[in-house]
Amino acid sequence: MKSFYEIISTIEPDRIKAKLREVTTKQVRALLDSINSGGIPQADDITILASPAAGELLEPMAQAAKNITLRRFGKTIQMYAPLYISNYCSNSCRYCGFNIHNKINRRTSGREEILAEARLLNNQHISQLLLVSGECPSEVSIDLLENTASELKGLFPSLSIEIYPLDVPDYSRLYKAGIDGLAIYQETYDQKIYSMVHPAGPKRDYGYRLGAPERGAAAGFRQIGLGSLLGLNDWRVESHYLMHHAAYLMKHHWKSQISVSFPRLRPAAGGYSPEFPVSDQELVQMICAFRLMLPDAGLVLSTREPAKLRDHLIGLGITRMSAGSKTAPGGYLDKLDSNLDKQGRTAEGQFNVCDDRPVEAVAQSIRAKGYDTVWKDWDNGFER
Ligand code: SF4
Repeated sequence: MKSFYEIISTIEPDRIKAKLREVTTKQVRALLDSINSGGIPQADDITILASPAAGELLEPMAQAAKNITLRRFGKTIQMYAPLYISNYCSNSCRYCGFNIHNKINRRTSGREEILAEARLLNNQHISQLLLVSGECPSEVSIDLLENTASELKGLFPSLSIEIYPLDVPDYSRLYKAGIDGLAIYQETYDQKIYSMVHPAGPKRDYGYRLGAPERGAAAGFRQIGLGSLLGLNDWRVESHYLMHHAAYLMKHHWKSQISVSFPRLRPAAGGYSPEFPVSDQELVQMICAFRLMLPDAGLVLSTREPAKLRDHLIGLGITRMSAGSKTAPGGYLDKLDSNLDKQGRTAEGQFNVCDDRPVEAVAQSIRAKGYDTVWKDWDNGFER
């Protein structure tokens, strides 16, 4: 079986760009008609739905996406929250506030602080928790994650990680400790841009990162989250790669449920400004395109987006939302408690959250639109 790395290396970005330019509104209409009558699109059809021509047909696309979401997921939105463990990082990603060269206040939360934050979130009904850290195994080791997961799994039926990429044996340890989900975004699938925005550090290894979802699936993770960091490359081209990555994993690792996130770059320490900004309208098109292409996939929207847009997107394809998020380790604790670094300064976040409403306010907005918030969608029914 070919790895996805071998497959993607044969897809030329210029070829995708040429195909995107050639798409006509007639082709978009024909594909929408086919999807509306139960047709199943092929992975390459993403080029049609992510094209500028499809941008002219956003209304019918949104209507079709709404219908599919309603049929497959009902009127529900799953809720989760991230918990940042550490903002130390050995990488120098140009777009990230945790870049090793940024002079920010750094800290790693200890066991007691992690548990205190987790309980605080749990008291707000959060049952799906995403543990996040920069790439610094000396600060956030597999042992620490394993122990943390063992302590948290009683409180959280679903525990996921968004950390540095690992080999299968380490992923297996975390899976056995109670972590069932892995989120690892390629950031950009374009190898040239990837090298430019990751000038140093272990993350420079494009192939190792690209293989992480496959290794995570091989280790048994029930949920695998993919995504491109929107703003690093032309979103239409990224959509093509991302779609093929999702389709590859669905075909070869069908036991794992694939979800797709749509993180747009946000202001952060370092002041990186996106080369390829994505407008609200383009973001909506991308989300609708993925819903039409992947009717059963979870589509995730974080607090990087403004409250108004997030509310607007309920029903159009998004099935999972974070709420009340803090992006600094210890960020949920009162400053008087302990979100301070070794010098007693407040630790800094990865990026500025845009939707800063508390969890309950987000839940109320969802309910006001006639949707139910789902805090917990499954129980781990078997021992690992
Ligand atoms: S994106 Fe991740 S790996 Fe890169 S600097 Fe930020 S935390 Fe580190």
